[in-house]
Amino acid sequence: MTDITENKQPHLLIAEDNSANLEVATAFLAAAGYRITAAQDGATAVAKAAELQPDAILMDIQMPGMNGLEATRKIKDQPATSHIPIIAVTALAMSGDEERCLEAGADEYVTKPVHYRSLLDLLQKTLRRSD
Ligand code: MN
Repeated sequence: MTDITENKQPHLLIAEDNSANLEVATAFLAAAGYRITAAQDGATAVAKAAELQPDAILMDIQMPGMNGLEATRKIKDQPATSHIPIIAVTALAMSGDEERCLEAGADEYVTKPVHYRSLLDLLQKTLRRSD
């Protein structure tokens, strides 16, 4: 359903606290050829990014405990993980929100509800750029 041409399945870390959202994202992106690891809070996302070295991270911004902005900052502050592209996902459509995500170190930014076809294009573009 998508045109991932490399042999290897890109490994995507999805940080999302809402189980229903996580399930939808995992189902869609796994069907599109991605290998998915999930994290349901920011601290877990930071730990799994370092441990598993995913090819990209989809980072929900509104999460309890360590939120996505803080997790993004930590991942981008650590030499072991700073190269991993992060796509921030937020429900906030407030002006300034995109700037906050980018300032925290996110490479890209999408708003909820996520349009998955567009997200696939963005992921492919992001992965090509980071090759
Ligand atoms: Mn959330």
